[in-house]
Amino acid sequence: TGFDVVRLLTDLREILQQTNPSHRLIFNMPFETLFINGDSQRIEQVIINLITNAVKYSPKADEVIITAGVNGDKFRVSVQDFGIGIQPDQLDRVFSRFYRVENLASHMSGLGIGLYICNEIVTRHNGKLWVESEYGKGSTFYFEIPINMDA
Ligand code: ATP
Ligand code: MG
Repeated sequence: TGFDVVRLLTDLREILQQTNPSHRLIFNMPFETLFINGDSQRIEQVIINLITNAVKYSPKADEVIITAGVNGDKFRVSVQDFGIGIQPDQLDRVFSRFYRVENLASHMSGLGIGLYICNEIVTRHNGKLWVESEYGKGSTFYFEIPINMDA
């Protein structure tokens, strides 16, 4: 069950840009095709969640940068925003179920479930999801999954 993840991103690009008109979504994709093993609908859900968060938690910014690439035998996506950022002591907690950071953005609607679901999906693909952030400057969420998860 392989699918072309570059094609998936290309297809998502247009609809995500239309539904997030406040930000320019910049896609960096080094290849024209890349077949990976996994559940395309779930991977799509991860990408949508990360981009939706990036837009939501960067209300004063106007760009989000999505970069796809390969790291050894893994496929990697990063989603970078220039938003509110996350304090160091909160970094691990954002992946917990129903956890939401207490901050200026707390009034924004959300359940605190999006990243938990992303983490479940990525883990089930034998991959990992993590974040780097500078408080007040922005965040970059990364996920990596094996290109052939059965290998
Ligand atoms: P939803 O369930 O609708 O996704 P949510 O966005 O609050 O609600 P998560 O996506 O799980 O939930 O994110 C958890 C928390 O992590 C958020 O409430 C927010 O505090 C923080 N967070 C997530 N993404 C970012 C980001 N790009 N920049 C800053 N904080 C973020
Ligand atoms: Mg969310």
